[in-house]
Amino acid sequence: MGRDADVVVVGAGPVGTALALDLARRGRRVRLLEARATRPPGSRAIGVHPAGLAVLAALGVADELLAAGRPVRRGRAWGAAGPLGDLDLGALPPPYRFVLTVPQPVTEGVLRTALARTAPDALELGARVTGLAQDPDGVTVVGRGADGGERRWRAAVVVGCDGRDGAVRAALRVGRRGGPYPDRFAMADLPDGPELAEDEALIALARAGVVEGFPLPGGVRRWVVRVGRDDAAPPEGGPALAAWVAERVARRTGLRPAPDLVGGASAFGVERWLADRFAVGRVALAGDAAHVLSPIGGQGMNLGWLDAAALARAVESLWDESEPTGPRIAAALDAVGRHRRRAARRAIARAAGNTALGRPVGPAVAAVRDALLAGYLRRPWSSLALARFTMGGLA
Ligand SMILES: Cc1cc2nc3c(=O)[nH]c(=O)nc-3n(C[C@H](O)[C@H](O)[C@H](O)COP(=O)(O)OP(=O)(O)OC[C@H]3O[C@@H](n4cnc5c(N)ncnc54)[C@H](O)[C@@H]3O)c2cc1C
Repeated sequence: MGRDADVVVVGAGPVGTALALDLARRGRRVRLLEARATRPPGSRAIGVHPAGLAVLAALGVADELLAAGRPVRRGRAWGAAGPLGDLDLGALPPPYRFVLTVPQPVTEGVLRTALARTAPDALELGARVTGLAQDPDGVTVVGRGADGGERRWRAAVVVGCDGRDGAVRAALRVGRRGGPYPDRFAMADLPDGPELAEDEALIALARAGVVEGFPLPGGVRRWVVRVGRDDAAPPEGGPALAAWVAERVARRTGLRPAPDLVGGASAFGVERWLADRFAVGRVALAGDAAHVLSPIGGQGMNLGWLDAAALARAVESLWDESEPTGPRIAAALDAVGRHRRRAARRAIARAAGNTALGRPVGPAVAAVRDALLAGYLRRPWSSLALARFTMGGLA
């Protein structure tokens, strides 16, 4: 059976699409298989960190994203009794001295358009992968095409970017560790008010649970609140959830966002997972297929882009002179996988810390926590805080 591509990427989320684009730009024949025929509604990721922007700049799409997003240049931290300090993102090294906020569907759209320009035939929609088999000459990916018929795709390398319950990890029989956290959150996109500047994010560690407010393009602010011990379960979504969120923001912070829903609203639990291995033979995992972090801190998609960039570099170097052998491919993917797994462990630990910080606490714990945090936000520690919250050291 002839090869359909040098590399088959499974899953056209933000990570798989970025990887396919990167590989195509490096001259590899790539096929991107996506189970869904249309993108799901709703927005998950909004935060694009400097490290993520650097990956996107190398793919030639940073300018489009910058035009579509809103830069956050200052993070304001409040404790139980008032302001603790600010993080000035202007102190980051150039060129990206901010975190950009862009709704995930916009980001995915920019990446897909760039892929269509670079490799018009790469993306296959409605292609659901169900398994794969490796042999000394390559990998056969099996699944169903858009017409429901059985399909096979043949490649030298396969990367599973098929999300938290991915079929590729299952086919490799790679286990994972982790599970859910006890925390539950509700979020709603509401009109931005005048209390915070349009380039400011707020993290308020209220005693009843954290409140976060991130500016979005178009005069919108995404509010995320932790469901407190005494809260009744929030409504599932829609205007009722927007009103629920606005009421908690007001009660916990004194700010009064209008309870009008102008974007998404959802209630969600958080979890973490880490695959036992990120590569087996000619097959690698990247993005949520390899690691799921608590979204508090907003780093999962960005971490996936760093996986993708490392994999694309490794794959390019494999095709240096001649067709790479199976053992050479396996060694290269294994080295990248080990490196990325270490980064993912660090990111999961940081995200777990961010999540724990926002839990409801009593007055004594709040006083100690807030005093320590106020110190952490001052020089010389503020540079550590800045690196921690902007994904420093995870490339
Ligand atoms: C509420 C929330 C907020 C978040 N905020 C942020 C943030 O601000 N910043 C950040 O960096 N991250 C954030 N994240 C995390 C981020 O959304 C994920 O890490 C990111 O979507 C992972 O991208 P991915 O491409 O790896 O996987 P996914 O986005 O899950 O994409 C996987 C793709 O694979 C396809 N697929 C699945 N199975 C198959 C199959 N068998 N065959 C073919 N295709 C298949 C799916 O249809 C999907 O398109 C947030 C997450 C949540 C829940």
